[in-house]
Amino acid sequence: RKPWEKQAMSTLTQRQLDSWWMPYTANREFKKNPRIITQAKGAYFTDDRGRKIFDGLSGLWTCGLGHGNAKISEAIYQQSQELDYAPGFQYGHPMAFKFAERLVDFMPTGLKHVFFTGSGSEAADTSLKMARAYWRAKGISSKTKFIGRIKGYHGVNFGGFSVGGIGANRAMYGQGIDADHLNHTQLDENLFSRGQPSSGAHLAEQLLELITLHDASNIAAVIIEPLSGSAGVIPPPKGYLQRISQICREHNILLIFDEVITAFGRMGAKTGAEAFDVVPDMMNIAKQMTNGAVPMGAVVTSSDIYQTFMDSPSKDYLIELPHGYTYSGHPLACAAGMATLDLLEQEQAIERVASLSPSFENTLHQLKGMPYVTDIRNFGFAGALTLESAPNEPALRPFLVAMRCWEKGFYVRYGADTLQLGLPFISTEQEIDDVINAIGESLQEIA
Ligand code: PLP
Repeated sequence: RKPWEKQAMSTLTQRQLDSWWMPYTANREFKKNPRIITQAKGAYFTDDRGRKIFDGLSGLWTCGLGHGNAKISEAIYQQSQELDYAPGFQYGHPMAFKFAERLVDFMPTGLKHVFFTGSGSEAADTSLKMARAYWRAKGISSKTKFIGRIKGYHGVNFGGFSVGGIGANRAMYGQGIDADHLNHTQLDENLFSRGQPSSGAHLAEQLLELITLHDASNIAAVIIEPLSGSAGVIPPPKGYLQRISQICREHNILLIFDEVITAFGRMGAKTGAEAFDVVPDMMNIAKQMTNGAVPMGAVVTSSDIYQTFMDSPSKDYLIELPHGYTYSGHPLACAAGMATLDLLEQEQAIERVASLSPSFENTLHQLKGMPYVTDIRNFGFAGALTLESAPNEPALRPFLVAMRCWEKGFYVRYGADTLQLGLPFISTEQEIDDVINAIGESLQEIA
């Protein structure tokens, strides 16, 4: 027996396990073989067997600065004592305004107004509603359709799943809202590319075909992740985002970047917009925004969008945009977010990601040639492998590898035919080597 096997196993009863209908989880499998996380500090979880487990996805792309950061905890505690909650409808509190200002400073030039939400999914649906309302305010109410992208992920709400392009997330839910989709940018000729693939910019021209099909007078916005995260880290081909942005501008279509994964350092830059040098009309953020410590999201918009609502001819005491959440601008989330921005700066976390990502890239690509590995992709501190499908079971091998990794003390994400890494920004080179070795060993074990 290994030392950790002496520790008490989970004390959860079957009834407790059955009581939580877990999100995005194979509940039947999980409840036969629970993986229970009881503590977290820095880049490590502890499980209910007392084992230390390296957090290879920073939670769910949320906790880049590491878990249990004392400055974030302290900020949340202090705020909870000073003002735990304040309504954000028709009344405000200082932290939300101050945090919004800090976020505007953090954003690329041009994004100037922050609409707080409680999550990334809420940010997605907020941005879509804003886009429709914007065109209506401009007197062009026919502009209601959205263009998303195959393999895109924009959360789980009605707008988000409709513009999203991962089949499994849509299949059970029937009709959503009116949306069409661009092709994804994963081309065979780009297999095993490092960073941004060099070919694929031409795929942006497909937007012109969709405009011909639907007419720009009917299209409100294009929404894309600058780098597709959930579908397995698909960096944009060089020049692709620039061309999408240009076509949107020329056809009066708003461009929304869903940066729920890419903002706040993951790309080795403040945002994906900065990393890839394209500024959208709206940017959706969440996850790393509070280092995952308190749920929060936001849509950050251009002045043109904000001002369009402020210039509406209605009376000043009437609401310009009838939209918002009970927890929009929650004081505890704002406090966590402010502390997160401080830490990103003080610890030079973004610079650290930028400087270590070439070494992550080299180590990750050493998995080329391992059993079943058909592609490897990376950018910043995000990376993924595609595994060759087992007969009729594309999701099986990633699951088996992730379970092996978990047993070895490494948490990595598996989704469809991919394995994904979103390293903590505080990872050391040794930890990078170790997690990638664990994946390599696991691949050999299942071969
Ligand atoms: N948008 C993107 C790009 C995401 O990656 C996610 C979550 O993974 C979401 C939206 C949804 O965020 P949430 O799960 O906070 O609703």
